[in-house]
Amino acid sequence: MAQETAKAAVAGRYWHRTGDGRIQCDVCPRLCRLHDSQRGLCFVRAR
Ligand code: SF4
Repeated sequence: MAQETAKAAVAGRYWHRTGDGRIQCDVCPRLCRLHDSQRGLCFVRAR
């Protein structure tokens, strides 16, 4: 199952690293800040 997810994953383009080691998604106004293995509120995008 994890391998299937990895095959379907595509690197995102609209994000940046924050000063505290998280990654912030810049796609929508929620601006989710993700730790390793976290998903955003939309559950579509993940780190
Ligand atoms: S809800 Fe999804 S698209 Fe919006 S900022 Fe969060 S991860 Fe990105």
